[in-house]
Amino acid sequence: MTIAILSALPEEQGGLAAALAAPRESVHGGRQFHSGTLHGQPVVLALSGIGKVAAAITATLLIERFGARQLVFTGVAGGLGDEVRVGDVVVAEHMLQHDMDASPIFPRWELPGTGRTLLDCDSVLSTLILRAARACLPGATDQNDHETTPGLQIHHGLIVSGDRFVSTAAESDALRAGLRAAGYNPLAVEMEGAAVAQVCGDYGVPCAIVRTISDRADDAAHRDFTRFVREVASRYSDRLIHALLRAFTDLR
Ligand code: SAH
Repeated sequence: MTIAILSALPEEQGGLAAALAAPRESVHGGRQFHSGTLHGQPVVLALSGIGKVAAAITATLLIERFGARQLVFTGVAGGLGDEVRVGDVVVAEHMLQHDMDASPIFPRWELPGTGRTLLDCDSVLSTLILRAARACLPGATDQNDHETTPGLQIHHGLIVSGDRFVSTAAESDALRAGLRAAGYNPLAVEMEGAAVAQVCGDYGVPCAIVRTISDRADDAAHRDFTRFVREVASRYSDRLIHALLRAFTDLR
């Protein structure tokens, strides 16, 4: 069973392509795909580029062309939750497209014609990733564990996506306030995950989205993002995906 590992940017996949056994490269839709095995598990790696359309095309190709039966998105995101800090990890329980607005015909954020606002991530796959993150990231503590010295924290909840790099405090305040007023508690914002979750939902392919927080989606976001992606993101992704695939191998 092939697992697809998808990211937007090359830094978000670290050295995974170089670690593949029996590697094969191919190009579809202007994108490069790397297939092979990692820890004995058949995988296909892909970079979507930035944004929902790019991510949806790539997820579709992974399922249709490469027969991916599970999909994991690994990347970075801006923190929106009060307790979500740079360096923390957020695993999505649900995704929402924060720039979807066909109101007043459909409720705000609902995907027209589907009756859905929240897109589910697979709970089994997400649990494996949460476990892998706890096991492999330095000083990781659970969100509710106040006993331990604060290291990086691992959160599980709502991640929202839209075609905007959220880079002012005013914009992230508005985004957070609007969603909270409607009963949603967004932990992080990024630009691809909800599109991937929509494609996977349509195909019945389990998916998980894991994001390391690169910035707080505020006025310093651009500076923080650039430094974080260069210095930290690739190491985290590498460790997480290796730990996840080792967990898969142990399950077989
Ligand atoms: N200005 C940046 C643009 C990168 S877009 C550059 O110089 O390249 C940011 C990427 O990281 C997207 O793939 C998105 O999913 C994620 N991301 C990180 N922080 C984000 C934020 N504050 N808002 C939206 N997406 C963010």
